[in-house]
Amino acid sequence: MSFINVLSEVSSNVWWSWQPEVWQLFHELNPSLWEEVGHNPVAFVERSKDAGEGYEGREDLHAKGQELLTRQRQYLSECGPEACMEAGKLHRAPVAYFCAEFGLHESLRIYSGGLGILAGDHMKAASDLSIPIMGIGLFYASGYFQQSMDENGWQQQRYDEANVNELPIELVCGDDGQPVEIVVDSGEGDIFAQVWKMNIGRNSLYLLDANVEKNSEEDRALTARLYGGDRRVRIRQELLLGVGGVRLLSALGVRPGALHLNEGHSAFAPLEMCYTLMTQQGISFDVARRRVARQTVFTTHTPVPAGHDRFSLELFEGTMAPLRERLGLDHRTFHDLGRVRSGDTRETFCMTVLAIKMSEHRNGVSNLHGEVSRLMWRGLYPTRPIEDIPIGHVTNGVHMPSFLAAEMRELYNKHLPEGWEQEQHNPEIWKSLLDVDHRELWSVRQQLKRKLLSFIQERVSTSTLGQGEGGERIGSGFREDVLTIGFARRFATYKRATLLLKDMERFKAMIQDEDRPVQFVFAGKAHPHDDGGKALIQEVIRASLDPEFRGRVVFLEDYDINIARHMLQGVDVWLNNPRRPQEACGTSGQKVIYSGALNCSVLDGWWAEGYDGLNGFAIGNGEEFASADAQDAHDVKALYKVLEGEVIPLYYQNDGGDFSEQWMRRVLWAKASLGWRFNANRMLLDYLRGSYLPASGSPSV
Ligand SMILES: *Cc1c(COP(=O)(O)O)cnc(C)c1O
Repeated sequence: MSFINVLSEVSSNVWWSWQPEVWQLFHELNPSLWEEVGHNPVAFVERSKDAGEGYEGREDLHAKGQELLTRQRQYLSECGPEACMEAGKLHRAPVAYFCAEFGLHESLRIYSGGLGILAGDHMKAASDLSIPIMGIGLFYASGYFQQSMDENGWQQQRYDEANVNELPIELVCGDDGQPVEIVVDSGEGDIFAQVWKMNIGRNSLYLLDANVEKNSEEDRALTARLYGGDRRVRIRQELLLGVGGVRLLSALGVRPGALHLNEGHSAFAPLEMCYTLMTQQGISFDVARRRVARQTVFTTHTPVPAGHDRFSLELFEGTMAPLRERLGLDHRTFHDLGRVRSGDTRETFCMTVLAIKMSEHRNGVSNLHGEVSRLMWRGLYPTRPIEDIPIGHVTNGVHMPSFLAAEMRELYNKHLPEGWEQEQHNPEIWKSLLDVDHRELWSVRQQLKRKLLSFIQERVSTSTLGQGEGGERIGSGFREDVLTIGFARRFATYKRATLLLKDMERFKAMIQDEDRPVQFVFAGKAHPHDDGGKALIQEVIRASLDPEFRGRVVFLEDYDINIARHMLQGVDVWLNNPRRPQEACGTSGQKVIYSGALNCSVLDGWWAEGYDGLNGFAIGNGEEFASADAQDAHDVKALYKVLEGEVIPLYYQNDGGDFSEQWMRRVLWAKASLGWRFNANRMLLDYLRGSYLPASGSPSV
């Protein structure tokens, strides 16, 4: 087998998205090509082939390529650990996992943020554990936007179209060799779609793509962008995802054991499933609905009202009438499926309500979010006491191998028992880390920080901001012996990216402190329609350009998984200050556990259940206020109190040595106390035992 074919086979399965050694190999073969193709292995191979490049001169790397291919083949041919057995029945009837976005790797731009990364992590962990899950989503050729800044620090959006020949996807064809065609009926005629298949380890993800000739111009663009359109585009995308997704299952001859609606976008799927049962078995809608609901799992992801899709009845009826007619429902019955108050024609149609009504297994994504969701939706169960509202929780977790630094993995390999990775959800495993020598850990941490600093220099030198006036200053004051705090997430207002800047005097004093300075790295995108979020970015950028901050504040443009990985691995502290209780879970803070930064966060989302007083830092005490202003005023003080009173002193408390033993102790305790709980394997096993097996009718293990 030629070396280029070895590379080609390795790139064909997105298994590589959690193999830093694969990225390293491509980087070593041709660093500039690797950057040019945005870390995309398929594009790298295709362009190498076009250039007639077989890397004959690089025999030094051929063995590595072969080794990775052997490892991949072995992974694909064997069954994972225990869950392989436990998943039992799902091997014949898999879980169909619906989501509007999947975040697998920076080169696959079909995600925007937390929801997508979570779905990607879910697919990856399902593969690692051999839990049969079929992903169903949409193919966005232009994906989510790419971010740059104009000279005023105002966010600009750019959409680049991906080349399907340079992606790890293949067109799904039927027995006749022709591409499978999915048709969904909307109130304005049929929408057609083709289907792409992406292999994610042992499982597959199917992506519906409306860019086919049979469609009108408008519909050809339907799936071009993620979250880029208006309400009309949104409902038509959701129609395609839900109804089209179920039709796809039929076209593939798959009878799913369970449907998992990851967020309400796909809530039309169980309705189409009802229709399938009604036609196959001649049963009524009510009977079909009960059966489908028993099989359906719904995960809600946010308490923020704007995060719950609502459609005007006019738009809804105009788009969904054909489905209503097929189900034989009158307007009121159909509309009531998406309304809290039956018969109230002033209430718009809500996808979350539909999902709740069409599923029997429902969960929020952290303990606190479960509580908040029960409160939020109690109107659907007016006669029940709050504790009996049937919405539970499964706390999110992250796919560790996708985010763990290679240097830290080496340290784990040395100190953790063999097979630790398969056992990562076992608390005992992580305890072995408590004996790690502090100096050894410190040296790995500093290595990671140096990598981040050089990454920052590189990014700043190519950024639109870096070229302008003040360009030399941005990031120029960054030093490896300075406490480094990272903040990266969507610039949604409730996440309060600029909370720190609400007390400029204290911010300045903290950064300018001669003995114990602090440096900050920010990144994040605002939704294209969110001017409030864009204004927050602008505020951060202005601070980064202000000479008073001595080049110790930097904003990295175009936040994506690549930037996330560098930041998560290299900072000392991960800052999270949302307005409680609006952060349903928040997963970026979970990622830093594994590479050794400490969380400093409001007691919201996962941190409300993860923080134990010693494994990181808490901003405030979980207080909530009726007014946002009062809450912000309180939380700014709490934030400075913990930074000035705990974080900074502890980091610089070196007792004459060159680092803080106390800090290292805390980092190890964070790993020991949190590592086993907040990974995606634990999450998958929770879903398997608590939702998938009960939904598919297997006895719970
Ligand atoms: C993990 C991750 C997120 C989600 O982070 P939150 O803490 O939930 O805001 C968003 N974007 C990227 C690129 C990530 O890696």
